[in-house]
This record gives sequence, structure tokens and C-alpha cells, in this order.
Amino acid sequence: MAILVFIEQRDGKVRAVSREALGEAVRLAGSLGGPVVGVCAAAADPGLAALGEAGASEILLASHEAFGRYEPAGIVQAVVAAVEKVKPAAVLFPASAMGRDLAPRVAARLGVGLAADCTALAVEGGRLIASRPVYAGKALQRVAFTGSPALVSLRPKIFAPAPAHNGGTLVVTPLPVEVDAAAARSRVREVKATSAGKVDLTEAEIIVSGGRGLRGPEHFDIIEALAASLGATVGASRAVVDAGWRSHGDQVGQTGKTVSPKLYVAVAISGAIQHLAGMSSSRCIVAINKDPDAPIFKVADFGVVGDAFEVVPALTEAIQKLNAHA
Ligand SMILES: Cc1cc2nc3c(=O)[nH]c(=O)nc-3n(C[C@H](O)[C@H](O)[C@H](O)COP(=O)(O)OP(=O)(O)OC[C@H]3O[C@@H](n4cnc5c(N)ncnc54)[C@H](O)[C@@H]3O)c2cc1C
Repeated sequence: MAILVFIEQRDGKVRAVSREALGEAVRLAGSLGGPVVGVCAAAADPGLAALGEAGASEILLASHEAFGRYEPAGIVQAVVAAVEKVKPAAVLFPASAMGRDLAPRVAARLGVGLAADCTALAVEGGRLIASRPVYAGKALQRVAFTGSPALVSLRPKIFAPAPAHNGGTLVVTPLPVEVDAAAARSRVREVKATSAGKVDLTEAEIIVSGGRGLRGPEHFDIIEALAASLGATVGASRAVVDAGWRSHGDQVGQTGKTVSPKLYVAVAISGAIQHLAGMSSSRCIVAINKDPDAPIFKVADFGVVGDAFEVVPALTEAIQKLNAHA
């Protein structure tokens, strides 16, 4: 049986989160068997070169002008049509903003279960077993599926991406869908991009986040400087966002973004469970806090007990010196 992967694109390019889902599908295909097929909804044919980046050997392409923006009803229809055509054992979605909205809709339409925001997949006795953090990351739940196909969404930055397809034998099969955009119950009317060129938090390799201990938005300049020296994206705790110091797009945590960068630097953040829920799966966590009992130190790989206003500029300077010699 095949494994189907939802290929998410942005500006005509396959998103990194989809390559990660494909990489995991290719790995699972070794034990579950079957080809890896991608299903992609695009406004126009993105061309083989763009789809080749995905890494699958076949792509079912549903083209419709309404797919220039996220169009839930039509895209659900495309994924359901792909499931009916391919009859996969599993369908993988990225747990991106789009995937988090789309996967439950597809599950409801198919009447099957969904394991959302998974951090590991395994095949045991021929069955797919998904692991996902629950209770704000305090416990790990292992999920098996009774129905078929098994639907899972994968937390970004956890799984190794599939290498780009060489384009040689990539098959693109048109997938006809009828979309009645006028009858859609919800519609994306406008997309407001955050500052141009900034790597999205969910895709960032390195994140430097600031908390309420910074005492005001003007002090985020030390966070920005450290982030610039590391090539990092800036994040924030909810206390900072609620205070209006940073935009909600910067918020990490249970009611913000879930991130899994290689390096997460938490500056003047206490480490409340709701913050940990969004970042505890980061590969390496560095905490800077003046309170030695701050809960953030319980999840940190490296901790500095000290005043952020002294530690952060010193760290930035040291990194800049290293950069200069690199
Ligand atoms: C339903 C719900 C959902 C929530 N969702 C989220 C979420 O998504 N994300 C999130 O972050 N929070 C969330 N929260 C809020 C969360 O409970 C905390 O209130 C919040 O994370 C605290 O932010 P903070 O660590 O920046 O501030 P504080 O808890 O005030 O911590 C500030 C820290 O800075 C340290 N500090 C102070 N001065 C300095 C200094 N000069 N140098 C170094 N350290 C210093 C202090 O020791 C302290 O540890 C949620 C809460 C609820 C109830």
C-alpha cells in the first residue's frame, strides 16, 4: 500500500515541512511498503522543477485558480480524491498552520482517526505507531490506528527532509477537482506577511526568544543583536506578546507556535509549562535567567544564571568575534 503525503507550497515552492514529511514517508515505505505519492494543490502547474524538490516519485496535482491561497474546502476535496485514488495505508501532513487546519478536516471527511503534531513514527507488527507529546509536553502518547488510512501530522523540524528529486522519473498526474469557490464557507481574503526575508519561527534552525524579564520592548535590541550574530529568528513569551512588546506571530508556546530548532536560546523567560509546550522538543536549549530556580533550567541543556543585560551583550560580542575569524 502507498503512503500519501500532502505537499504544501508557498509562492510556488515546496515548503521544507513537506520535504520532512516526504523524508519520513520514504523511510516508512521501507517497512510499510508501497510507493510514496505526493498530493499537491496549486493555482497553476508549478512545473516539474518545483515539484521535483519534493522528493516523491509521483505527484497528484490538483490545479485550480482558487488554490493561490489556502482554500480549505477545495483542498480537502483534492486530498480526499487522492486518498480514493491511491488507497494509501497512511497520509502524512506537515503540522504547519495549513496542515493543522487541513488534516482534521480530511480526517472528518474520511471518518478516520488523526494523530496530530507527532514527533516520531514507527512500524510495529506491520502497524503504524505514532508518538506525540501531550499535556503540554509532559508526557508522550503512543497512538495506534484502528481504521485506514492512518492520518498523521508531523511537527516541523523533527524529521529529516527527503533529498530533492533529481527530476528524472518524476511522474505528475493531474487530479481533477471541482471547486465551487463561491459556495465556500470560509475564505482567506488577505495574507499579511511579517517582515520580508525573515525565516518563519517554525522553520528556523536557531531561535533567540525574549521574556518579560527584559522589562520593555526597547530592550529587545539585545535579543535582536544576539539573533543577528547567530543568524537566528526572534521569538517571545506570551507575557511579552500580551504586553504588546512583540507581535503574536513571534509567540512561542501552547497558544503560540510550536518550534523545534537546533538551538533555542531563552532569555529572561521563566519557563512556564505553556511556554515549554512550544519549545521543549528543541534539539539544544540554552537558558539565561537571573533566578537559579527558574523552571526553564529544568529543560535547558546549558544554563547561565545571570543578568540578561550583562550576559547577552557579552555573548553577542563573543559570537561576533568568532564570526569574524570564521
Ligand atoms: C491558557 C494559557 C496559555 C498560555 N500560552 C502561552 C504561550 O503560548 N507561550 C508562553 O510563553 N506563555 C503562555 N502562557 C503564559 C505562561 O503561563 C507565562 O505567564 C508566561 O510564559 C510568562 O512569560 P515570561 O517567562 O516571559 O515572564 P515571567 O514569568 O514574568 O518570567 C520572567 C523571567 O525573567 C527573569 N528575569 C527577570 N529579570 C531578568 C534579568 N535582568 N536577566 C535575566 N532574567 C531575568 C525572571 O527570573 C523570570 O524567570 C499561557 C498561559 C495560559 C493560562
